Amino acid sequence: MSIAAFPVSRVLPAVPYETLAEYVSAVGGGDGLRDARLVQREVVIEELEASGLRGRGGAGFPTGTKWRTVVSFESADLSTSMVVNAAEGEPGTWKDRAILLANPYAVLEGALIAARVVGARTITIATKRRFGEVVTRLHSAIDEVRAAGWLDDPDVGTIEVTVFEGPEEYLFGEETALLEVLDGRQPFPRIAPPWRRGVVEVVRGDHDVESGSGLSADVQFAVQSSDNEPPPVLVNNVETIANVAAIIAKGAEWFRSVGTAESPGTIVCTITGAVRKPSVIEAPMGTPLRRVIDEASGGVGLDRSLQCVLMGVSNAILTPDELDLPISYEAMRQRGSGLGSASFIVVDDSTHPAALAAGVSRFLAVESCGQCTACKQDGLRISDMLAEIVDGRGGAPDLHTIELRLATVADGARCSLATQHQVVVGSIVETFSAALHEQAQINSAPVAHYLVAELTALSGGIATIDETFAAKQPDWTHGGSDSGQAPAERLDEHRV
Ligand code: SF4
Repeated sequence: MSIAAFPVSRVLPAVPYETLAEYVSAVGGGDGLRDARLVQREVVIEELEASGLRGRGGAGFPTGTKWRTVVSFESADLSTSMVVNAAEGEPGTWKDRAILLANPYAVLEGALIAARVVGARTITIATKRRFGEVVTRLHSAIDEVRAAGWLDDPDVGTIEVTVFEGPEEYLFGEETALLEVLDGRQPFPRIAPPWRRGVVEVVRGDHDVESGSGLSADVQFAVQSSDNEPPPVLVNNVETIANVAAIIAKGAEWFRSVGTAESPGTIVCTITGAVRKPSVIEAPMGTPLRRVIDEASGGVGLDRSLQCVLMGVSNAILTPDELDLPISYEAMRQRGSGLGSASFIVVDDSTHPAALAAGVSRFLAVESCGQCTACKQDGLRISDMLAEIVDGRGGAPDLHTIELRLATVADGARCSLATQHQVVVGSIVETFSAALHEQAQINSAPVAHYLVAELTALSGGIATIDETFAAKQPDWTHGGSDSGQAPAERLDEHRV
């Protein structure tokens, strides 16, 4: 393990590559794709497995295992599809957009290798309509790699690469919800995993509809017209796929030359909140969190002290005495938290813990789709009660009721959002119970609200949060008043 070099630059160059030629000359771009096309796909999968690369979208699932699983479920008749999840939306995260803006070529090269391995003829880069600059950059990069002949696989044929511009919702970044949107439905998570089944509706009889897989109308037609089982879909996060080409070109051992045994390689971290210089930085896995916060982002401002670090809205908060924890999947898991997408939102002592809990709770309650009753209803109840405490309208029993609702919010949950609500808000309530209890007393003075929302920009040491989220209603309309219906009840028309 080596953590001496910091920061490092494997997927996020210090100076953005303006052209494909720069990528080729700077880091040997194209070598991984060339090498992958010279060997059997098993060799590529084995190299990925040996590298220990884990998904950087949040779950940390081994990438080689994922590719092998997708291959094992491939259809004899229909092509597997390849999707790059570029629908970043975790509060405090900018890393995928930073990579796509500075180095889209590594993402495209990795996706082309993936497509070859799983036998996909199409690559869909699923991003958000609101990411205009990223969409423009992707189109120009795709034109360049097309002109360079990279899309023409000698065995698979020409790979079609498209950029999909999806909705703003947080759940669009959830893997199965993303696939639902790609086939024209709402970003509502489903149960069937992508490696078994994707999103094509397979209609067998008038009332027998089930989820299938595949992304194109051709695949839908083929599935509906035959007894074929739908093919799987490979979905990889932007940062994950950006690591692939270099692993194939330079080998698993090179990849493991930084990082830890269980978390090899680097990770692109976003540090925002109460730091002097919000930033995106690529660090070796295993780097102490304190070093990233202090050296990359200048720590908290003068006359302030760090109160806690919010790990996006996915994992338990960390407290000041835990800042020397290494940034790795195993260290965070051992602590009872998680690395997620390496979003570190630094919170200083100017924020009241009740406001922090209310901000997280509101974000997750609003973004809940409502397919699961407890997630939406208990989530909104928690959010409302915390807002009452923040506004000085609380009463002592509220804290106990919040704990009761936190205990049930994840009952029957279809996706991880409800558990995130339970874990993140639960960790704030538990850590700062005395401060919350005091603020919950009758006649407390109101404290300032704390907005938790997606980043809309991060540049030159300035991070911008989506202020419009403050007006987003739980039914996913903006402004006005809430209909009282969950999105899953209200949105029965296709809206992508
Ligand atoms: S857990 Fe929440 S966000 Fe996830 S599917 Fe159920 S209602 Fe929707």
